[in-house]
Amino acid sequence: MIVMKFGGTSVGDGAAMVRVCEIVGSRRGRKPVVVVSAMAGVTDRLLDAARLAGEGDLRSALGVVHELRGRHETAIAEAVPDAKLRAQAEEVVATHFAGLDLMLEALALLRETGPKAEDAVVSHGELWSAEILARALEARGQPGVWVDARKVIITDNTFGRALPERAVVAERAQAHYTAAVGKGKIPVTQGYVGATARGTPTTLGRGGSDFTAALLGAALRVDEVEIWTDVDGLMTADPRVVPAARPLPEASYDEAAELAFFGAKVLHPATILPLVELGVPVWIKNSQRPEANGTRIVAQSPRSEGTVKSIASKRGVTIVNLRAPRMLGAHGFLKAMFDIFERHGTAVDVVTTSEVSVSVSLENGPTEPGLLTDLGTLGDVTVTPDRAIVCVVGEGLRETPGIPARIFRAIASVPVEMISQGASKINLTFVVQDGHAVEAVRRLHEEFFPR
Ligand code: ADP
Ligand code: ASP
Ligand code: MG
Repeated sequence: MIVMKFGGTSVGDGAAMVRVCEIVGSRRGRKPVVVVSAMAGVTDRLLDAARLAGEGDLRSALGVVHELRGRHETAIAEAVPDAKLRAQAEEVVATHFAGLDLMLEALALLRETGPKAEDAVVSHGELWSAEILARALEARGQPGVWVDARKVIITDNTFGRALPERAVVAERAQAHYTAAVGKGKIPVTQGYVGATARGTPTTLGRGGSDFTAALLGAALRVDEVEIWTDVDGLMTADPRVVPAARPLPEASYDEAAELAFFGAKVLHPATILPLVELGVPVWIKNSQRPEANGTRIVAQSPRSEGTVKSIASKRGVTIVNLRAPRMLGAHGFLKAMFDIFERHGTAVDVVTTSEVSVSVSLENGPTEPGLLTDLGTLGDVTVTPDRAIVCVVGEGLRETPGIPARIFRAIASVPVEMISQGASKINLTFVVQDGHAVEAVRRLHEEFFPR
């Protein structure tokens, strides 16, 4: 068995869905389970609709949904040629749209906003794309069947970034997908979406379809997980930042995980972890160019010639600095500080310390009320927004002399505010002003991947 995940642009319109059918057809003998994202842009629009409804602007919310309905109807017309199956797809999708209208009316009446309401609304995107793709496959003689991920990806109730209950997911996945595959079917299921044990819809965080693919891959102990997207693989940098970026033939789990964590959007940061124990290889492939090699991600990947494999950046982060002269020579201080982050459910990315102060970077800033006040009991707190993390990754980086010198020479004109190396053997990470992030990544790419 294999898992094949198709991202938003890979199912972005009817023609893209037809391409997906061909790719899935080429893997028929490998017993694929297909995971799909919502059509490109749909998740954003559904979030708009949820917010508008919650603010009481039902008219605008329904307007958004109307526009989405048109897009899905067009996709059905393009991707499902068979009249009977097309009528079926239209009917199913119409029913889901009617349900969504009712939901938005209820949210508007109750002025209900927040992650729980958003998850219920936003989960429609993957429902539509999965239902359509299953019929598009069927119309091409491939036995696609929609399987509801909400019956399998059982999560806690942290709406908006829910955590799956791995043991339950494993059990349910066997029951739902293995059973369908055993009957010769090709299950098509929603990425990103799950449900609590009570059946309330949840989502795994933006970009979470990759994570669904990994969870199912681990649960079903598949031979491979394929992530089909809009670029030729994991690349030497984000090609939107560095047009000359090149695809990597291979990367290690550790390299891929670090890159994803520090901003390489091509993989959701949680994707690699479920697959590591089982050693399931991950492929990243381009659905618009299936003939391109793609990147293979495996446990051990040899060092590349120049050591550095790729450069990632995560923008819009905030630095929180805590200065506490009392820390000098005292023990237990870091524990007290990290206990506060823990209590407020705030994850920190980069950490640096000096004798009397500690700096940490936070992805979304100090959003939790009370966090800064609590930190203030330990010392003086300063908050610096609009920063970016830049991360240089490669197996063997720590053991290779000269790499840090090359990094900082390449970006000599950019002020560097925090540096971290050594926590992981394979990366060097630093913080700059957000406005300097693009320049830093480009200069580093020039240095390590000259044309
Ligand atoms: P999908 O909808 O298929 O999940 P995403 O938009 O989430 O696709 O991720 C693919 C995008 O990730 C690419 O278009 C690219 O701009 C971006 N990206 C960022 N860093 C990298 C990288 N190192 N390698 C490849 N793509 C990257
Ligand atoms: N559709 C979701 C998003 O846009 C999940 C995904 O694409 O992976 O975040
Ligand atoms: Mg994605």
